[in-house]
Amino acid sequence: MVVVRDLRLMISTALAVGLTATLGLTVSTEPRATATAAAPVQATVKQQVARPKWVYLTFDDGPSARYTAQILKILQAYHVRATFFEVGQNIKRYPAITRRVDQLGHSVQNHSWSHPNLTKVSWPTFKYQVRTTDRYLKAQTGYTPRCLRPPYGATNRVVAKRAAMLGKKLTLWTVDPADWSRPGTSVIVRRVLAKVRSGSVVLMHDGGGNRSQTVAALPKILKALKARGYLFYPLWCH
Ligand SMILES: [Zn+2]
Repeated sequence: MVVVRDLRLMISTALAVGLTATLGLTVSTEPRATATAAAPVQATVKQQVARPKWVYLTFDDGPSARYTAQILKILQAYHVRATFFEVGQNIKRYPAITRRVDQLGHSVQNHSWSHPNLTKVSWPTFKYQVRTTDRYLKAQTGYTPRCLRPPYGATNRVVAKRAAMLGKKLTLWTVDPADWSRPGTSVIVRRVLAKVRSGSVVLMHDGGGNRSQTVAALPKILKALKARGYLFYPLWCH
C-alpha cells in the first residue's frame, strides 16, 4: 500500500508540475499586470492537484438480502468503489449478491465464516473460519481474498500470527461511526465527516441487522467527501 501511495503522490506531483509549466507558459505571453493577477490562480490549481486525498470505505457483515443492493446502488450513482468484508455463511446464503458486489468492481474480503471472536478460538477453528470463507468467496469472485478483518476488531499476537500463516493481512479501521448501534442518520454522517483524514479506513455495515440508517447516511457522506476532494479506493492487501 505504501508503494501505491508513493506512486500516486509521484503522479500527482508530476501533474502539478505539468500544470504549473503550462500555466507558466500562458502567463508569460500576457502583460506583466495580468501575470501578477494570474499568480494566485496558479497557486490554487497547484495546491488542489498536488494534495490528493483518498479514503477507503468498508462495509461489514454482509451480504444482506435487504441492504447490500441499496448500498451498491448508491456507490454506483457516485462512481465510488469500496470494500465489503463478508461473512462466509452469508455468502453461502446469498452467493448472487457477492457476485454482484464483485462485478461492480468492489473488493470482497474475508470477515470469517460465522463472526466469532478470533482471540478465543482454537487453531483448527481459526483455519476453518478463514478457509471455508475463502472457498465460498472465490467461487463467486474468482480470487482468494488477501485481507482478513477480525470480527469485533478483536486481535492479539496469536491472531496476527495465524492470519499471516494463512497469507492474510489483518485489516482494521481508523474511523468508526458505530452505525450498527443506529445512533441516527445525522449522527453517523457527522461522526464520519469529523474524523475522516486522507488514508482513513471507514467502518460501516451492510449486514447483521437493520442498516437503514447506514443506507440513508451514505449519500450524504459521499457528497460531502467528494466536495472535499476525496478519492475512493478499494482495499486489496496485496
Ligand atoms: Zn463484523
